[in-house]
Amino acid sequence: MPSRTNNAITIDVEDWYHICGLKNEPNVPAELRRVRRNIEFILALLEEFGIKATFFVLGCVAQSDPELAPLIASGGHEIASHGYSHCPVTQLSPEGFRDEIQRTAALLHQQTGQKPFGFRAPQWSLSLAKTPWAFEILVQEGYLYDSSLNPLPLVGDSRGSRFPFHLSADGATIQEFPPLVAPSMIGNLPVGGGWGFRLFPYELVIKTVEAYNQRKQPAILYLHPREVDPCGPRIPLSPLKSFAAYGPRRDSVSRLRSLFGKFSFTGLGVLAKACH
Ligand SMILES: [Zn+2]
Repeated sequence: MPSRTNNAITIDVEDWYHICGLKNEPNVPAELRRVRRNIEFILALLEEFGIKATFFVLGCVAQSDPELAPLIASGGHEIASHGYSHCPVTQLSPEGFRDEIQRTAALLHQQTGQKPFGFRAPQWSLSLAKTPWAFEILVQEGYLYDSSLNPLPLVGDSRGSRFPFHLSADGATIQEFPPLVAPSMIGNLPVGGGWGFRLFPYELVIKTVEAYNQRKQPAILYLHPREVDPCGPRIPLSPLKSFAAYGPRRDSVSRLRSLFGKFSFTGLGVLAKACH
């Protein structure tokens, strides 16, 4: 029987070449883009298990394929925002950040009829210390939740909360949903998505989800379309970046299938509205 605690599955809707830290986005011709086929695969997988997920859509992807967000929305999934350009928020001014989320929200609303109320920053790049203004802007723009604070060293704050919490910003509150991590002797391990989800023993992922659910806390998983596309193209990167972006990725789908059969999953918007 699936656990009664609702976990969340989230997908960052970007293509194989949206890699953080690149100075300029490569100019990839339409025929080499893979996001549509990979999203179609993910939608079919979710449908198989009757799961409604959250899709953090990148504005520039929605712009170049205007039928993609409507396709996702037609499956009953939540349309949320991943910003417009995949530029880390730490490299944007407050005005630049507001412009990115306004452009993306307007585009997604126009394409799907859904105004996003959830946000995830590229490369987990929101920070209470470095970008406190971004939370105020999210509140001002009508966002109910954010899922950008990762309790990990390097990409986040290793001392940050592992569980959902409320943040105060601009006289209001916004809910924060950190991704699943496994506490260990050497710190939190990124078992909730990306390279960590594929690298660490599957048993560790299962045990971590169970431990969260025993505490009545949701496990929040994240997935990139390129992770279900093991033979897709790759950008030449340094060995470390290549590992993080493409890494040991061949069994993502079988792991997801097993998790979907074992636990209960929904979108983050459902969790946000339940405790708003
Ligand atoms: Zn991203």
